[in-house]
Amino acid sequence: MGKVILVLSDALGYKAAVDGMGFLGHLVELRRASLYKIVGELPSMSRPMYETTHTGVPSWEHGVVSNLVVRRSKMPSTFQAAVDHGKTTAAAAYYWFSELYNRAPFDFVNDREVDDESLLIQHGRFYFKDEYPDEELFCDAALLVRRFNPDYLLIHPMGMDNIGETYGADSSQYRNQAIRQDVMMSTLVVEWLERGYHIIVTGDHGMNNDRAHGGTAPLMREVPLFYIPSQGLGEGNTESLLSHLQLAPTVCKLLGVPIPETMKASPFV
Ligand SMILES: [Zn+2]
Repeated sequence: MGKVILVLSDALGYKAAVDGMGFLGHLVELRRASLYKIVGELPSMSRPMYETTHTGVPSWEHGVVSNLVVRRSKMPSTFQAAVDHGKTTAAAAYYWFSELYNRAPFDFVNDREVDDESLLIQHGRFYFKDEYPDEELFCDAALLVRRFNPDYLLIHPMGMDNIGETYGADSSQYRNQAIRQDVMMSTLVVEWLERGYHIIVTGDHGMNNDRAHGGTAPLMREVPLFYIPSQGLGEGNTESLLSHLQLAPTVCKLLGVPIPETMKASPFV
């Protein structure tokens, strides 16, 4: 039984993360954390990957095959599994997560901030501008931790995606945003570990040099996965590959709730 924070950094490519995220790299070097590479599921688009990372099934199966599919999820999800077993859920995330797991379409006034135990994302702070600053998003999330002590918290910053689609992956702006996110997370990670959280940091997809993603090339597919257990040691740089499909069953296992039958991939812990 544990509590989990998933930082799903939008468009956090593998190379930018490993090169730029020095605090997380420090934890890997000390073997306090584990580092894996994910060869991402397809298409390397946001809404399909939000659903894949939270249901553990591929796009073809869950049906959210592009960003244009605007509806609630029809599959058992991490949020559903948690709530069904009495866990508290929360998210500081882009409004598409509200559409997938709370209500669709998004009501820009009513749905932006919710505290409602009948919802799958019970404590939600949803933004709808891609430019919403990562600093504010991390503070939104940190307050959810201090105020509600959720068992599962999704943190979903958009900075890498917004900057990547403006300047491309081969830009100082994109590379430096990874450094900024690492700095923002560092003190919070210390606090969250003290509060007993297991922490996972990964991306939904990467970014190419043409300021886009969606395809199959490594820059668009390869994302990091840092796993920091609440206590004890990690495995350092494992130099091994994981699948996005393993995220949802892993979160369920860490939460101590039954893994839905539809999540067929093996947990990585
Ligand atoms: Zn995305």
